[in-house]
Parts: sequence; C-alpha cells; structure tokens
Amino acid sequence: MSTAPEPIDGGMLHPELRAPDDRDAIIRGGRRLDHAEGTSKPLRTRPEPQPRGAKVYGNRPIDQQEAAARFIAAPEHERMHDERLWDLRQKRDREMHGIPEWEELRSLASAIKEHTLTHLDEYLDQFEANARANGIHVHWARDAAEHNQIVNGILRDHGAKSLIKSKSMLTEECGFRSYMASVGIEVIETDLGERIQQLDNEDPSHVVVPAVHKLRTDVADVFSRTIGTDPDNSDVHYLAEAQREATRPLILNADAGMTGANFVVAETGTFVVCTNEGNADLSANVPKLHIASIGIEKIIPRMEHLAVFVRLLSRSALGSPMTQYTSHFRGPRAGGEMHVVLVDNGRSERLGLAEFWTSLKCIRCGACMNTCPVYRRSGGLSYGATYSGPIGLIIDPTFNKRKYSNLPYASSLNGSCTNVCPVKINIHEQIYAWRRVLAEEHAVPLVKKAAMKAAGMLLSRPAAYRAVIAAADTALAHLPRFVIYNGLNAWGKHREVPHAPKQTFHSWYHANRGAKQ
Ligand code: SF4
Repeated sequence: MSTAPEPIDGGMLHPELRAPDDRDAIIRGGRRLDHAEGTSKPLRTRPEPQPRGAKVYGNRPIDQQEAAARFIAAPEHERMHDERLWDLRQKRDREMHGIPEWEELRSLASAIKEHTLTHLDEYLDQFEANARANGIHVHWARDAAEHNQIVNGILRDHGAKSLIKSKSMLTEECGFRSYMASVGIEVIETDLGERIQQLDNEDPSHVVVPAVHKLRTDVADVFSRTIGTDPDNSDVHYLAEAQREATRPLILNADAGMTGANFVVAETGTFVVCTNEGNADLSANVPKLHIASIGIEKIIPRMEHLAVFVRLLSRSALGSPMTQYTSHFRGPRAGGEMHVVLVDNGRSERLGLAEFWTSLKCIRCGACMNTCPVYRRSGGLSYGATYSGPIGLIIDPTFNKRKYSNLPYASSLNGSCTNVCPVKINIHEQIYAWRRVLAEEHAVPLVKKAAMKAAGMLLSRPAAYRAVIAAADTALAHLPRFVIYNGLNAWGKHREVPHAPKQTFHSWYHANRGAKQ
C-alpha cells in the first residue's frame, strides 16, 4: 500500500526556500514542491526494471556494446540518464559563461598539474615531512593490495570493527569494501548515492553522482529490500529521510572513519575534501580515528593553487559555484589519530607513458562524462570498470589492456570531452592513441582486426576503392535487406544505412571541375 509523501513544509526546507514571495516556487495540488520533486516526471505505474551493468568474466574483454544495448532498450532509464547529465552540462556552461577568466583558469590548472606531476617526488616528500610535523601518520602503498593491508593493520591495532567512509574512487579501484568484508570489518558508505549503490551491491556509475543511472523507483526498490521502506513510495524526501534514519546510528557508533581527498597541499602538509552532503566531515570527525586514502597525483604545491581548482571543480562537475563543504584537514583532533595512506597503484607507471601521462591531471569532476553522447546513452555501468566515460577510456587500459581493450572504441571522438575538461586533458586524442596502441599490441578483437585490415588495403588502392564504391552504390539499391542488415553490420543494428547518392563526389568533381585543372 502506498504511503502518502511526507509533507515538506515543516522543517525540511531551509527557511529561505519557504519564502512566501519566491517566484520560482513550484506548487502542485496546493503543496509546495522542491526542485527535485517539481522536475520529476510521473513514472509508469509498473516501474521499468533497472538495466544492469556489463557482464564481467575474469580477464575477458568487456563487451560494453552489449551492456549499452540493454541500457538503451530501457527507454525510461536512457531518457532520464541522458536528460539528467545534459542538464549538468548546461549548468556547467552557464557557470562558465559567468567567469570571464575561465579559459585562463583552465590553462593555469593544467600548468600547475603538469608542473607538479613532473616534480612529483619532491612535492610528495615535502607533503610527507609537513604532514608528519602536523601529527599525521603517513603510509605509502605500492598497489591496491598494500593499501587494503595497511588500512586493515591500522584498524586492527585499534580494535576497530566498523568503518564509516565518504565517497572515494580510489577505494573502488582497490576493491576496498569486499576486502574489508573478507576480514570481518563492516564498511558503511555515508554519501547518499554511494550508499544506494552499496545497498544494491553495485559499483558507482559516475565519479560524482554514483547512482545517477537509477530512477526513483529503482531506489524505492533497493530501500524496501534493505532498510524496509514502502516499495510503492518513491518520494525523494521520504527515501532520503528513511536512509538518513537508518544510517545515522551506524555513523554515531562507528569505530573509525575514512575519507579520500580532492587536493593535497605540499607546503602545509594538509588535505582538502570537497562534498555536498557533509558526509566526509561526519566520517572524519565522529570517530576518533580518521584514515584518508589518497592517490599520489592529488598533490598541489601551495595553498594559493587551491583557489584555482576549487573555482573549477564544482562548476565543471555540477554547474554550481562551490561544493557545499570544502573541508581542510591539518592534523588529528584532540585525543584522536589521523593516518594518510598515499597510494600509487599504477600511477608511477602511467606517469612514464609519453602519450598518456597527462591523464594524471584529472580532478575527477565528471564533466567529460556529462557531455559524452555515448556515456549519456549507455550508462556508466556498461563500461564494466571503475572509471567510465571518456576519462575511463584512457585510464582503464593502464590497469588491464586486455580486459579494457574494447573501451577506447566507445567514443565518437567528437572532442567535447576535451573542450569541457577543466585541466585541459586532450582526452579524445588519447582515446584515439589508445586504439593505435591496442592495435599494435594485438589487443583488438579478431573481427575488428580483420575489418580494419580489409579497409586499410582498400583505402590504399584508389582505383580499387572507386570500383568498390561504385559497385556498393548499385548493390545497396538492389540487394535483399537480409544481406545488408545482418550480424556483421554493426552500423545497421541500430540505424538504417543511408541511401547512396546517384553520383559520388569524386565522379562529380571529375565531370565538372576535372578538365579545368
Ligand atoms: S578528465 Fe577532465 S573532465 Fe574528465 S573527470 Fe577528469 S578533470 Fe573532469
């Protein structure tokens, strides 16, 4: 039975949002709605089942196309995902146009990152010395396994059995939650989207909005199965409040807290965490033990550089001027203990890749994902990897070339990702470069390899090419449909092959201009 949505006029909204003369207020049925409710479209009575992500079989290449096709076949999910992310992209554009020095900021951010990455050893040493002077315990982890063991060791030394943590893509990289489960430590995600994904036993599908691929009805389904909410009530406030009520006692009683970091400042030995829910501050401040897991590329030299990145991050990510919380951590609080684990996990190796090292400049804003037409229509879980979207296409193969060999093809190479990237990573060029590298290293599927070889032979022989084009134009007009639309024609799976023009450009040019040359 459906429960009536909670009224939202009695304390849930900030007083300013209840102002009687607010011209932007959305009123429905005499009741004031907030933005999320007001823009939610009514859903079908029978909710569309949520499409699941890519099937992962050990080290076998991920079939992103297959998973994307399942996402596209769920029209409500596909439309909602596309609209939500395009909305973020448009908000980002509005913010960008409000900052005249936007391009200057991007160039500065890029230059600061490039300088830092080319002096990484010096700045990491400087951070370590200053952090230790601030009373922070600093650990170094070569890879994911070492990271997990170090954190487990710290927790074991403190007799900790439960850990609250804020969102961190690095811990996803490390398979941290499943490792902790294997050693009997309960991990509780405190970011709402990440908690939804944890309860649904799914990975995050986006670096900033981890559950963006889910409809409200999907969340209602997850919460009804896991925390006992009404399965028919998908009101966003009811669901958020129910989750808050269920998680808050776990947070208050946790033995330890964990955060990541968005930026690490070498000159002060401090680190900065940017969130919108305040959950990182709970994770860091409620238990006495705070552990921060940080990728070594997060370092910046000085505090003055932080302003450049803070101005770019939230505007690029969500189209808002600032994150709600920008928390600086300098050392343990009175009576507490703080540990920082600096993690490499393949970053040093990536730094040595001439064509791909600048991917380490990434500040995980997600703007390249929000703008990517492939990502918006296929959902982040279709990539079957920790990082999805354009940034995933250039990072994932550095972890495993074979497993992620199909991913660089999940792009139209339109360059929009490069245009929006706040640190000016040449993303689409790196995607293209990966295709070449994978082809050279024979990490390309056989069918694709054979097709490319045939195309290469044809394109290198102009006379043969023209003869084939002329024959194909005639054939397209007369061949039976099944000959053109079959399993070998990937293009024709999702669209009609266009009608061939009566005359090719080459023959037109030859007839009309050729004689004048
Ligand atoms: S590659 Fe650029 S746009 Fe994409 S997440 Fe990283 S910083 Fe943002």
